Amino acid sequence: MLRFLADKEYHYSFNDCIIATGSKVSKPGIPGIDLPVVMDSTAALSLEKLPQSITIVGGGVIGLEFAFMYANLGVKVTIVEFLDHLISCVDCDIADSILKIAEDRGIKNRT
Ligand SMILES: Cc1cc2nc3c(=O)[nH]c(=O)nc-3n(C[C@H](O)[C@H](O)[C@H](O)COP(=O)(O)OP(=O)(O)OC[C@H]3O[C@@H](n4cnc5c(N)ncnc54)[C@H](O)[C@@H]3O)c2cc1C
Repeated sequence: MLRFLADKEYHYSFNDCIIATGSKVSKPGIPGIDLPVVMDSTAALSLEKLPQSITIVGGGVIGLEFAFMYANLGVKVTIVEFLDHLISCVDCDIADSILKIAEDRGIKNRT
């Protein structure tokens, strides 16, 4: 039996159950991570005013997705990545093409 608490209380009976309630944001142990200027992806998608510039920590697929999104909106973007190249999960030729486009859009890359 499962108790689901909202404004009411529900009782469900089942033999088997899959919990698929999603995940929480995980904060890496980077100094300054709790400063008010640091956003997670949810906050970065909810900004009411565009910043002049933004630094994105992590040059994987989602980091680049945010980089292109903000650059296309006219924000100066810098990506910081601790590996020696961005989007290491994709084929080198594809990564090089994407990075060339990023460079053309003015996205700065600090690896
Ligand atoms: C910025 C960003 C970009 C992404 N881009 C991609 C992408 O391009 N491709 C890709 O494959 N994935 C992407 N992902 C990941 C993808 O969004 C998640 O992996 C996926 O949404 C996880 O699905 P889920 O069903 O586990 O959780 P969710 O989609 O979070 O669904 C969980 C559901 O459970 C509900 N719930 C929570 N608590 C309770 C409760 N107590 N009782 C009942 N219901 C509850 C929630 O309201 C929600 O509807 C991205 C994620 C982020 C943050």
